[in-house]
Amino acid sequence: MYDVVIIGGGPAGLSAGIYAARARLKTVILERLMPGGQAAVTDYIENYPGYPEGVPGHELVAKMQEQAEKFGCQILSNEVEAVTIEKKTAATRSENYNWKALIVATGADPRTLDVPGCADFKGRGISFCATCDGALFSDRKVAVVGGGDSAVKEAIYLTKFASHVFVIHRRDKLRAERIIQEKAFKNEKITFVWDSIVTAIKGDQRVEEIHIHNVKTGGEKDVDVDGIFVYIGRMPNTAMINVEKDKAGYIVTDSDMRTSAKGVFAAGDCRSKEHRQVATAVGDGASAAMSAEEYIAENGD
Ligand code: NAP
Repeated sequence: MYDVVIIGGGPAGLSAGIYAARARLKTVILERLMPGGQAAVTDYIENYPGYPEGVPGHELVAKMQEQAEKFGCQILSNEVEAVTIEKKTAATRSENYNWKALIVATGADPRTLDVPGCADFKGRGISFCATCDGALFSDRKVAVVGGGDSAVKEAIYLTKFASHVFVIHRRDKLRAERIIQEKAFKNEKITFVWDSIVTAIKGDQRVEEIHIHNVKTGGEKDVDVDGIFVYIGRMPNTAMINVEKDKAGYIVTDSDMRTSAKGVFAAGDCRSKEHRQVATAVGDGASAAMSAEEYIAENGD
């Protein structure tokens, strides 16, 4: 029996782990892959307080992990497949974990493009992670789909390797922060393809070409690229738990991270909220752990 079971080892889960373990609660983080979540594959984080020069994502989360473990938080690679709230269990393929309080910090996964070719070329030119795969496209042309912070930041990152980066956005205005936009507009290796969507991805063994449709003019064109990076938002990993969610599947909480189920808290990108940043995830995690601590103190077992 654990005092606190945390599902997910990204910044929200790690922050919750630090706070819960430091409060002398027996705490485990169950993570499906490696701790760190999306932040671990973010090249450089420039807006996390305390790092005026910026910090590589993997370095920041490695320090969070070290800090959680220092306080005695266990971190296990074991994917939670189902949560039974009435029995207070989180089930992985091999084991059931019992909790007094549960913190869901499962984040969100990238949304994929629903166009011909996308499924066929995953890992053969289609990627969702510039940090992981960018170096494979040295001196090659790549496309980035999307107009949010992720798309524009990663397009800038990809110019380190690629000979040219096309950013294909369905509108004529970016959603990304102004400071990120300004950097991208100044970068001579980036061309914005406005008001456009990718309608097909073609190639033989690997991606060779994308078909683009202009939603304003109706124009069609093919662009030769060796890779395509998809950054069109994310989908929350919340299927395993039955608590109140919003229309998009994000978990609804109050301002202290309490969900609709007693003793169950949610933190970070899987939570219904406006701003999804490492800094906000870390705040959520701390809050969720303190609420969990209060809940355990009031409710005992
Ligand atoms: P996002 O902000 O939701 O942006 C998704 C982008 O994809 C939007 O430009 C959207 O277009 C476009 N899009 C959505 N569905 C599409 C489709 N089917 N086809 C083509 N385009 C589509 O997602 P995100 O960029 O991953 O960011 C997620 C959160 O993380 C945001 O809160 C963001 O601020 C934060 N974040 C922050 C940083 C940072 O360094 N500050 C870095 C990464 C992420 P529309 O604009 O037309 O809707």
